[in-house]
Parts: sequence; structure tokens; C-alpha cells
Amino acid sequence: MQPGDKIADESIMSLDAFVHCTCIRDGRAKPHPFPEKFMWDEAGAPSLSSDPSDEEWEAHDRWVQKSCEHEGYLAPRVWAT
Ligand SMILES: [Zn+2]
Repeated sequence: MQPGDKIADESIMSLDAFVHCTCIRDGRAKPHPFPEKFMWDEAGAPSLSSDPSDEEWEAHDRWVQKSCEHEGYLAPRVWAT
């Protein structure tokens, strides 16, 4: 690949961004506070359905940060080290 080449493969492009670790998907994360409202959004991020309240979003965000050692996200370089 030469510099300036257009990267058309989405799987390659996604490597440049933060990626989600698989702990939640693999069931290794801690139980969600509202499992009945838990969902994956269109970007593949943990989210809530059913019109959650502000308090529920706060609890959800805290859960994401504590759900596993990666805080739900992995950068490729973090994964490599
Ligand atoms: Zn993780």
C-alpha cells in the first residue's frame, strides 16, 4: 500500500479508532444494573433502550467504566502491550 492510497476496507479503517473490548459480549463483564434495558447501539457501543432516565444513564456509564479492566474500550496499542 502506498501513502495516499484510499482505504476502502471498513475493517482496516476501524483499526484506527478505539474499539470495544469483548468482555461484555463474552459475558465476562459485571452484571448490568438494568439488563432488561441494555442494548448495543448502531456503533456497537453499550447503550440503553426504553427511554432511560438521567439516573439510569449515570448508572449505565458507571457500569461501562467498571464492567471490566478495559473500561469497555480498547485501543489497538493498549491491546498490543
Ligand atoms: Zn474488557
